[in-house]
Amino acid sequence: MSTIFKKIIDKEIKADIVYEDNEILAFKDINPKAPIHLLFLPKKEIKNINDMTVQDTELIGKIFLAIKKTATDLGVADEGYRVITNCNEYGGQEVYHLHFHMLAGKKLTGLIADD
Ligand code: 5GP
Repeated sequence: MSTIFKKIIDKEIKADIVYEDNEILAFKDINPKAPIHLLFLPKKEIKNINDMTVQDTELIGKIFLAIKKTATDLGVADEGYRVITNCNEYGGQEVYHLHFHMLAGKKLTGLIADD
């Protein structure tokens, strides 16, 4: 079944896109947890890390380079940021299309959400 992120990739649903190439899309999270909260995802439908294969390694590497480029372009690379991916129920995954949260713009504390 198609996820909400697939609909954003296919431009059926609007999002505030900050980065796009043929393989990757990044947009602002609708419910930001930091001054800058972006989601980076492969256009290829991969559910989460559990469904990654060795064929996806270059693609995932490119996502990290897109995160690095965006952090630099936004001027937050030096002060720093956090990248998170959630996997399945205990990881807190809500949307089952692999994505990486990039959080920036304030000093982040705590690693594990309490809520
Ligand atoms: P997850 O818990 O799956 O790692 O995170 C999913 C994220 O997607 C959440 O932070 C949520 O706010 C965001 N999100 C869910 N639906 C939409 C949407 O329609 N548009 C945007 N821009 N973000 C969404």
